[in-house]
Amino acid sequence: DTPTKSVERDDVKRCVDETIKRAREAQPLIRDSSVLWSGPIQGSVHQDLLKRCATEMASMDFAIHPIGSVVPLLVQYKFAPHVEIIRAAKEILPANRPVHLFGAGHPMFFAFAVALGVDLFDSAAYALYAKDKRYFTQYGTKHFDELTYLPCSCPVCSSHTIGEFNEQKLAAHNLYVTFEEIRVIKQAIKDKTLFELLEQRAHAHPEVFKAMQAFVKETPFINKYDPITKPHMFYLSDFSKHRTEFARVKKRVSCVKSKKFDAGTFGKIPIDIFECYPFAQTEDGSDDKKAKARNDFAKIRDVSLYWFGVNIFKETDRIRVSPKTHKIREVFDKGKVVASFRANDFMILLHEGSKRLFEKKYDGRVVVQDDVSEFIREGKSVFAKHVLKCGKNIVPGQQVLVVNKSGDLLASGEAMLNAKEMNDFDRGVAVNVRWSNK
Ligand SMILES: [Zn+2]
Repeated sequence: DTPTKSVERDDVKRCVDETIKRAREAQPLIRDSSVLWSGPIQGSVHQDLLKRCATEMASMDFAIHPIGSVVPLLVQYKFAPHVEIIRAAKEILPANRPVHLFGAGHPMFFAFAVALGVDLFDSAAYALYAKDKRYFTQYGTKHFDELTYLPCSCPVCSSHTIGEFNEQKLAAHNLYVTFEEIRVIKQAIKDKTLFELLEQRAHAHPEVFKAMQAFVKETPFINKYDPITKPHMFYLSDFSKHRTEFARVKKRVSCVKSKKFDAGTFGKIPIDIFECYPFAQTEDGSDDKKAKARNDFAKIRDVSLYWFGVNIFKETDRIRVSPKTHKIREVFDKGKVVASFRANDFMILLHEGSKRLFEKKYDGRVVVQDDVSEFIREGKSVFAKHVLKCGKNIVPGQQVLVVNKSGDLLASGEAMLNAKEMNDFDRGVAVNVRWSNK
């Protein structure tokens, strides 16, 4: 690896050429090695060079791909150019190889790097900034000499006075802030609130705000990875309207033709789908909107059109309503469960209805090798290594059909990965099977 020290095109090109040349030379030596070799991606702000480097590296035998950050830019808090650098590299690199961000700098940017798909990073910023007497906060750095109070409760700050601080203590504090941010990000991923975290960080510093402006331009990329539903959605700022939810709603609602009502943030939507994510789950600060609950065929038809683009229900189906909440729980046909409805996001969970969806045009299909057919018919999970191909728009949480190469319906369940990950991964669960075609 020859790191890019400047952003001048000629310098960057030289670094890219040299990095690719050395990587090629190393291939015979590192193949079959038990060491996790890294194939660095240089090119920085020059998209054509970056893409060439990523394409070459992706074709070679590497376990990890570190992306070269532009240290001179990061030192000045210029985070925004890195958004495009990371996205461009991620789009080309195989999903089963972790991506590392070299010199990730200030923890303010970590959440953005993670949201774009960075798995690992290193940062010496905690020590370098301490040398400069700079004190980390989640909203930028303070010059230590200008502090009257210590606005932090880490073990260093809560057991020392300002007068007792030295470079080592400052570095320790900076490191606590860094690790705290990593835990905050990990919890946000679990809670599916990473976008909300980005919006909060964006409003802490003008340069992070610019990074957020760059980030929302990448919605088409994020749309390929973002889970289909979340426990809730907070509409926090103008950035919120760039969330994947808006693009998806626009597309899905176009399949539903029935009577609409004004659902606030999302505009006019059909009454019957109000309980589906994200309508009833969005907090936008306005008065709670309630659609009148209906429990008839028109409603389940519209909900099916919304989630699947096609209707899987029949007018002769029997609807079971919860005696407590008066909400639809299950739909039956001749004593068999066709589908059930998840209470918190009104997602349709397929049972016998899988067979009906299988007969229709639905691209949420995962094709597996014939030799695992019996295993999956027994209700076992689908592993990524068994996936031959899948619908190119599958996202985590989506209800998918599992079929074998011969075209038989084996099962249905929830996608745990998106389409690219299902194709690239060779380990881990791809589909959590709920119903199987025994
Ligand atoms: Zn502290």
